[in-house]
Amino acid sequence: MERPFWTSLYLVDRVLIDCGAPGSVEELDHFFQGLSEEQFPVACYLTHAHEDHAGTGHFLTKKYGIPVYCPLESVSLLKEGWDYKEYRKMTWGKTGVIGFDAIPYETHFETPSGFLFDTLPMPGHSPDLHAFIEKKKGWAFLGDMMQPQYQMLFGHTCEIQEDIKIIVESLKKLYKFTDGIQDLQMFVSGRGVFFGRELIRTRIQEIHDLHQKIHEANAKLEPELKPARKMKRLLKVLFGGESLIGKMTGGELSRANMIISYLKWPLEGY
Ligand SMILES: [Zn+2]
Repeated sequence: MERPFWTSLYLVDRVLIDCGAPGSVEELDHFFQGLSEEQFPVACYLTHAHEDHAGTGHFLTKKYGIPVYCPLESVSLLKEGWDYKEYRKMTWGKTGVIGFDAIPYETHFETPSGFLFDTLPMPGHSPDLHAFIEKKKGWAFLGDMMQPQYQMLFGHTCEIQEDIKIIVESLKKLYKFTDGIQDLQMFVSGRGVFFGRELIRTRIQEIHDLHQKIHEANAKLEPELKPARKMKRLLKVLFGGESLIGKMTGGELSRANMIISYLKWPLEGY
């Protein structure tokens, strides 16, 4: 997909993991034309119901009759479909998500050759997000969880409301769940493949460090400052200001959202 956002879908043993954005229908169709009958997808599993992951579900079900499986809590949203703002249309396509019937998945699923995936709930980026983990192979498909480094969050006026405290809890759960997997490969949508579960610990530590830093910076501000000035000051001190993406998205994906999420999460407890 075009800058500044990317997404990914994967074809693993005739099973699609996520299905891309509405704007990628043609690209996906082109990809399908190059597949042999033995490679052709028999099912699609969605990590979560965001437009860049579920956006071609209507096309898959209508044109190819491929059943699409989704988190239980997303069935009705996917049936209705949804529209989204202009800055997302620039990257994910103009049509919005066209509604389709998806089938809820349970705690695991199996591919035609017998790869067994656990579906592990990992809320934080979205309440419905699930990671798909094949323990024997050491594969973990994480959707939008575990970004290379958390530098911005969705929030403000956006329907996507990320929560850093819940994200870190999910990362701890993932670390525990993958215990014993030697060479864990983690597939992060639009970001690439990351290796080794130690990396999960690094992410957790980074989040805790930033948590401390943001609370410390906040404590140093004059208490009489108005909230908007406080935020401006924190952005300046911590990051040199708001990011370009933060400005482009009208504050929906921003450093300010990240600061708000960290400040909402009290320091006590560790
Ligand atoms: Zn997402």
